Amino acid sequence: MTQNTQNSYLKLFNRQKENQYKVAQTSYNQRIKKLNALQRAIEFTYREEINDALNKDLGKPKVESELSEVYQIIGDIKYVKKHLHKWMRKQKVETPLSMLGSSSYYIYEPKGVCLIISPWNFPFNLTFGPLISSIAAGNTVVIKPSEMTPHSSALMATIIKDLFDEDEVALVEGEVEVSTALLKLPFNHIFFTGSPNVGKIVMTAAANHLASVTLELGGKSPTIIDKTANIKKATKKIVWGKFLNAGQICVSPDYILIEEGVKEEFINSCKTWIKHFYSNEPKQSESYARIVTPKHFDRLLSYLENAKSLNANIVAGGEHDKASKFIAPTIVTDLDKEASLLNEEIFGPIMPIISYKKLEEAIDFVNSKERPLALYVYSKSKTNIKKVISNTRAGGTCINNNVIHYANHNLPFGGTNNSGIGKSHGFFGFKAFSNERAVVKQHFFGATEFLFPPYTSFKEKIAKLTIKWF
Ligand code: NAD
Repeated sequence: MTQNTQNSYLKLFNRQKENQYKVAQTSYNQRIKKLNALQRAIEFTYREEINDALNKDLGKPKVESELSEVYQIIGDIKYVKKHLHKWMRKQKVETPLSMLGSSSYYIYEPKGVCLIISPWNFPFNLTFGPLISSIAAGNTVVIKPSEMTPHSSALMATIIKDLFDEDEVALVEGEVEVSTALLKLPFNHIFFTGSPNVGKIVMTAAANHLASVTLELGGKSPTIIDKTANIKKATKKIVWGKFLNAGQICVSPDYILIEEGVKEEFINSCKTWIKHFYSNEPKQSESYARIVTPKHFDRLLSYLENAKSLNANIVAGGEHDKASKFIAPTIVTDLDKEASLLNEEIFGPIMPIISYKKLEEAIDFVNSKERPLALYVYSKSKTNIKKVISNTRAGGTCINNNVIHYANHNLPFGGTNNSGIGKSHGFFGFKAFSNERAVVKQHFFGATEFLFPPYTSFKEKIAKLTIKWF
């Protein structure tokens, strides 16, 4: 990173810093206008180019791009437009009698100059999603998308340039050194989506300026299935959730914990659905995505080699081809507890299965790992479902389904501890980019003035009465 480049980032930051109060004072209508422009760009002007870029970067089938990127962004914008007026209003609250003579409210004011750092697996959705929240809240923002999906990042740069002035929204492309340089600047809020390890780097950098952070991270999301579950229906959803985007989804079911008696039925049913979704030859299937880079391909194969060296069994899939970054939907059983597949976030189309005899064993296994971003439970037993939820912690949960909680804008989305800090989507995203400013307005003489010094015995009595009665 040359001094000139670092200086150019500082200059950009300073321009946004100068402009922040102007942007902050934009009205509801002005913000809606910006959201409408972004919606038009995604829905019409650039839609085909978006699908094309995703196909080049990730081999994403068009239907998947449409549903998981275009539709998600449009849905997000529509939801925000519907509710923004209410969110921008003064939020009145009660005032205690001891503060007689005043009224109270709080406002959601923009945090100021924000930084969004995004990953590659849903490049548009995970960049424009936080951008929508940031615009709704009235911030200026610098965006750094992932270098792993160059076609998508370049297209996003074009879209941003087309729609916004740099002193309001700017996109800077580049690798880690660009993030590192940006993280040196005193942003007011940093919204990071990526791995827990980089999340720690981001939080450390934010601490230097006491910038607030939203960290949307990942980790190992478990799926627990007991023998009361409808295995056929469960496996249909799990195979879809696990192999969508070739498993490169933060809320993908990372590993399976299944009650022993239904393990074989589960594996057989998974094989049936894999064949149904992706045919006998997933490599030829137009519905199946590819691994993002050769580096990630090698990482995933090293997990498989490691499992094999520890005597695991590959009971489905396992075929791969480096040239086309293809790894077949794969199921692995009989894993040693030291295997990488049980200790690293997989983020790929490999599904390890562990069986348990008692539900407590499955719960203990989950709790022996970091807190996950998602935890899924398949069961018809209300007692078991309650037991799993109340004895574990996770960012989100689906009961008898997976992944889809992400798509409900009414729900907060995010992790807990190692899987994330803070929430996004809908109102929660708006809140992440806002400071709740408390305001007390004094109308006439206030009761608190009775308690100002000097502290006479009369005031002491009033203080006692206040503690007792108000
Ligand atoms: P990553 O952490 O490697 O990279 C994310 C971003 O951080 C990229 O823009 C990258 O350039 C930047 N970056 C990488 N190393 C950096 C460093 N040392 N300093 C500063 N910036 C750096 O993640 P990824 O590989 O792009 O994405 C996969 C991870 O993201 C998985 O862990 C996945 O679970 C997680 N994820 C989480 C969510 C969510 O919403 N919670 C969504 C998607 C992905």
